[in-house]
This record gives sequence, C-alpha cells and structure tokens, in this order.
Amino acid sequence: MKTRRVTDQITQLTRMHFVNAFLVREEDGLTLVDTTMGGAADSLVAAANAAGAPIRRIALTHGHGDHVGSLDALRERFGAEVEVLMPDLDARILGGEKPDGKLPGSWPSVTTVPDLRLAAGDRVGSLEVIPTPGHSPGHISYLDTRDRSLIVGDVFTAYGGVQVTSHFHLRFPFAAMATWDKERDVQSARELAALSPSLLLVGHGPATSNPGSAIDRAIRSAERG
Ligand SMILES: [Zn+2]
Repeated sequence: MKTRRVTDQITQLTRMHFVNAFLVREEDGLTLVDTTMGGAADSLVAAANAAGAPIRRIALTHGHGDHVGSLDALRERFGAEVEVLMPDLDARILGGEKPDGKLPGSWPSVTTVPDLRLAAGDRVGSLEVIPTPGHSPGHISYLDTRDRSLIVGDVFTAYGGVQVTSHFHLRFPFAAMATWDKERDVQSARELAALSPSLLLVGHGPATSNPGSAIDRAIRSAERG
C-alpha cells in the first residue's frame, strides 16, 4: 500500500496502483474513508499505525466492491469500537434491497451492518456529507470543512486528467461501465464543482490540486457524451 500525505489532515492510501482509500485526521483519531478491495485490512491498519493514530470510524463513499471490500475484515478485527458509516441507499442495497432498474458495478455480499446511515448535511468529524448519486444510487462525497479538500469516490476519476465517471474513458473504462445513472452522475459532478474544492481526491487516480478548471473541462466533455 502506497501512502501519500495530500493535506495536513489527509493521507491517500493507494493499493495495486489503482484504488484509493483515505485516512482523515480528527482530534480523536482517524476516519478511514473507503477500504479498497478485499484483503487490505492489515495494510490499512498498518497505514493508520504509521500515521500514529487509531482508526475511530470507517466512512464509505458507495457500495461497490473496490470500496467496501475490506469492511467485513475490519469490523471483525475492531468490533463495535470502530463505527461504520454508509450512505443510506447503498447500505440498503448491500443489505439486500433491490433498486429500480439495472444495477451495474460489483455489489459484494457484506455482512457488516452500518452503525449510522448518512444523509445530506450529516457530519463525520470535520467532513460534511454531500449527496452525489449517479455512479451508484446512494453515492456520497465528503468535504473537509477545514480546507475544502473534497473526497469524491467515483464521481470522477483522475487518470490522464480528471473525468466524470459517466464518460467512457479508455484509461479506466471500468468506472463508466459501473455507473448506474449517467445523467445524475454528471449533475452530481456539477454540484461538486459548485463547492469550489481546493483539492480533488478520487477513488481511482492521483490527487488534483486547484481542480476547478480540470473539473469544468471534465463536465463539458461529459456533457458532449
Ligand atoms: Zn464505484
């Protein structure tokens, strides 16, 4: 697992060169945002140890397998002492509810029941929950209110430039293939742009500082289809 400090408070953890999770520092310890695929529990815990603080809570952007993959293993290790927070709708889908229409992407079976289901405006420490449905039905993003860093899960990717996941992109075709509702995904991308983030942190690809113009370009290219 490669670790990179991207802000004073956030460390980006990258597994197998293509999937990111994040450690977000709070006064009481760390929030782990996403868990990558299965088999990562040991290295996620080692990264937290290296950051010098315990994981206090796990917050997810959405229910796809490359984000929730190590959740059950972490819950098994920590039990109730680490709180699990999931976007409401994706938690219900992981719990067995079927949404309308086709549901692309990988939805693994997850036994962890979240302690809290997140909705618009909720806070996870310093992070504000921003609903960004489209890539998945319940997808959410997290705005660090301390410096406007924005963790967007799979609303955008950042290989060879920022792209909305509605948009088929050869460098990382899986993102578009896994996207549930492309129109809503682009609408969520616009709403994220309106937050004027200082740093864009994505599930797949490198961090982008001062991402305003890259985001605008990505949205224009997504609108062209
Ligand atoms: Zn995804």
